[in-house]
Amino acid sequence: MSLDLLTIPAECVTESRISELDINNIEFGKIFSDHMLVADYKDGAWQNPQILPYGNMSLSPATSALHYGQAIFEGMKAYKDANGDILLFRPLDNFRRLNVSAERMCMPAITEDIFMQGLEQLLRLDAAWVPPTAGCALYIRPFMFATDDFIGVRPSSSYRFTIFSCPVGAYYGQALKVAIEPSFVRSAEGGAGYAKAAGNYGAALLPAKKMQEKGYHQLIWTDAKEHKYIEESGTMNLMFVIDGKLITPPVSTTILAGITRDSVLTLARDLGYTVEERKVSVDELVEAHKAGKLQEAFGTGTAATIAHIATIHYNDMDLDLPAVEDREISNRISTELDKIKTGQAPDPHNWVHRVSQ
Ligand SMILES: *Cc1c(COP(=O)(O)O)cnc(C)c1O
Repeated sequence: MSLDLLTIPAECVTESRISELDINNIEFGKIFSDHMLVADYKDGAWQNPQILPYGNMSLSPATSALHYGQAIFEGMKAYKDANGDILLFRPLDNFRRLNVSAERMCMPAITEDIFMQGLEQLLRLDAAWVPPTAGCALYIRPFMFATDDFIGVRPSSSYRFTIFSCPVGAYYGQALKVAIEPSFVRSAEGGAGYAKAAGNYGAALLPAKKMQEKGYHQLIWTDAKEHKYIEESGTMNLMFVIDGKLITPPVSTTILAGITRDSVLTLARDLGYTVEERKVSVDELVEAHKAGKLQEAFGTGTAATIAHIATIHYNDMDLDLPAVEDREISNRISTELDKIKTGQAPDPHNWVHRVSQ
């Protein structure tokens, strides 16, 4: 099916719920915008994409996603520029990554038409839900799950693809205290850690909760074989500045290929910094810290763009990092990236996708 010149049929709300939103005090993930996109996969093809009022779905108790976890998602943000135009940041990369996740979880690929046209039409309908305020955005959640009502273990033959959204406020995160995880594992070679598969997040909740009980905001995952190499932190990619160089573990089957990660590395190279994508051992961090060369550490992801790390805990050591205001590379790139996303800086890599009104 080609939707090139078609519009997706829409059933619009009779009255917007936008008055429920306090734009100056947005509560994360609680109030959803008026509409959602829904498309169903049946008989080997995506059928009947439509836009509906945001609302509950009715499911069989045997819905296979609920039992065997064929469920994947994406996360992206839309911003308003100074003219009130809606800007998406690298949406085609989210589209492609959803299909990478789909392949790993034995699910069908969504078509670019349904993903992109659905997204654009939704945003035009729900334009009032994209906060114009600096630092705020509309968080967009595309996801897909298996819908066969059958409890045998096999790939489902039917799936639902949905996109909904919710406004999010500015991320005023304090610098994080993180601890290196000595025993739990998020992801192993040959596993599904590179996919945004629902089960990866469910399995990470207990280790994260235990770390929080010990007083850390988040944990740092290490490799599954030896717990020797750094992987990711929570649901962010991790980067370090050691002796002036920006260093991050390479993407692999165990590390998710973050779009923010790629954007930060690209901007760093543009700005002339040395960038190394290579394994980083825990020992290297400890040594660099001892030598006074561990200058910056931060997580990257759509939620925060850049989340500075204040302290890394390992064994019985606390590696305290320099004050956030003294961190040249992460601050510079964070500012630059936010300007590009909101249309306040040139966009040399064509990352910004303007939604025509
Ligand atoms: C989503 C995610 C990221 C960050 O990806 P972005 O595209 O930058 O938002 C990093 N790690 C994991 C495990 C993730 O799920």
